[in-house]
Amino acid sequence: MFHELGSCGYGQAMSNPPSPTLLSHFQAQLGPRGYTSDPRDLEPWLTDWRGRVHGRAAALLSPATVEEVQAIVRAAAEAGVALVPQGGNSSMVAGAVPPADGTALLLSLRRMRAIRSISGEDNVAIVEAGVILSDLHDAAEAAGRRFPLSLAAKGTATIGGLVSTNAGGTQVLRFGTMRALLLGIEAVLPSGEIFDGLTALRKDNRGYDLRQLLCGAEGTLGVVTAASLRLVPAIGSRTVAWVGVDEAPSALALLRRLEARLGEAIESFEIVPAAGVDLVLRHIEGTRAPLASTHRWNVLIEATAPQGAPAPDLETALAEAIEAGLVADATIAASEAQAEALWKLRETMSEAERIDGVAAKHDVVVPVSLMPELLEKGSERVEARFPGVRVLAFGHLGDGNVHFNVRAPEGADDRAWLAADGPAVSAFVHDLVGEMGGSLSAEHGIGQTKRAEFARTASPARLHALTAIKRALDPLGIMNPGKLIP
Ligand SMILES: Cc1cc2nc3c(=O)[nH]c(=O)nc-3n(C[C@H](O)[C@H](O)[C@H](O)COP(=O)(O)OP(=O)(O)OC[C@H]3O[C@@H](n4cnc5c(N)ncnc54)[C@H](O)[C@@H]3O)c2cc1C
Repeated sequence: MFHELGSCGYGQAMSNPPSPTLLSHFQAQLGPRGYTSDPRDLEPWLTDWRGRVHGRAAALLSPATVEEVQAIVRAAAEAGVALVPQGGNSSMVAGAVPPADGTALLLSLRRMRAIRSISGEDNVAIVEAGVILSDLHDAAEAAGRRFPLSLAAKGTATIGGLVSTNAGGTQVLRFGTMRALLLGIEAVLPSGEIFDGLTALRKDNRGYDLRQLLCGAEGTLGVVTAASLRLVPAIGSRTVAWVGVDEAPSALALLRRLEARLGEAIESFEIVPAAGVDLVLRHIEGTRAPLASTHRWNVLIEATAPQGAPAPDLETALAEAIEAGLVADATIAASEAQAEALWKLRETMSEAERIDGVAAKHDVVVPVSLMPELLEKGSERVEARFPGVRVLAFGHLGDGNVHFNVRAPEGADDRAWLAADGPAVSAFVHDLVGEMGGSLSAEHGIGQTKRAEFARTASPARLHALTAIKRALDPLGIMNPGKLIP
């Protein structure tokens, strides 16, 4: 059933369009809450968050239990019909948008939103795939704990999506990506078998780690229905600062200095260029400039302390950094409302960019020590190679991960520019990052929009292994076709 795509020989299976009989079967099985083919219900789920990729599907299936997911996968496998697992559809790489030919069915996990248990003793939450991240934050907090993964899409992104993309976010510096927080997984495999890997175990050495294989698989190896996740103690206090620096190397030197002074207290260290702040102030209501003067680079820092421990002395550490000439200016939030206002400047960056227009987007990672070079010399190289373009690079400095976005020349028709020049710009940026030992996907995944570049830049060994795993677990190619695997 596999056919070859391109000369490299990596394969994708062909799936069948759903027959009226199969659709009637799902309608009867799932009932009105679990099945719709009404175009008005489907419409919001057929386009990606950036509004650039549009798909089609004959129906949206919304199971409420793992058994219903299993029945759907079994029936789809029998008919050779593809399924596209979907959570909040906040993917930055159109990972949850169905193919444009309409042959796949959308499989939403959003009705599976039970928090099955939270154990303070085990420090573990067992949650279903459709639980929205901010709901898990609230539930953990109510239990005196914290789930230490957060990102700007926290009101939309689901646990299933976060697991399937191995999401990162703003606390990776201290707690790692989803992989580091994922203790166990429950999933329906393409065969229709349930992999019941939910566990509170901190160690489990039974060979290949299916939990980690499914994490970051972008829905291509099965449907995640629940996960057990590591919790940490609730925060006692947090200190949030906004810092202006004039050169990117100073930002990295500041991070290492603060780590030496305050150790693990530093949780977030996010960098935003002056042009990024400008964009947010222009497009996002209720935002205002945190510093009196403008600086080439701005850093948002969050330091935390557990309950009962003294607040980390970020103020003294920053004052010393100002004296040492690393920091040009700084402000520390004096209240929770001010802290939220500073975070808003960072968290609405993607939204402000979206409002401003389209851009060639890159979610790249390099060794942390090379971040300043990428931010400054890398931007200069791109702007020299494509005269008039404007690089907007912001993100997780402490992880070496930057959203290295390239905007059209001022006054240009940005969509026309993106169609004409976008591919060459992206290839240039990815090659630049490759030269630095980096990767073209730090946290968003490959999805649809990075697939061609992934195929172009990945080593044959990586692609062969990926394809072999896909063929072994999903021989019919019914799980999320057209994503990740070239
Ligand atoms: C404003 C904004 C900021 C963001 N910031 C970050 C960030 O800082 N860090 C980061 O990592 N990401 C970020 N993202 C990207 C996005 O939020 C994450 O990729 C998130 O994990 C997607 O979750 P979702 O539920 O929306 O998944 P979807 O978009 O619905 O799906 C994402 C992928 O996972 C698959 N999938 C979804 N659910 C399941 C399931 N139950 N079983 C199997 N496969 C499944 C889909 O098929 C798809 O391939 C951001 C997005 C936005 C819009």
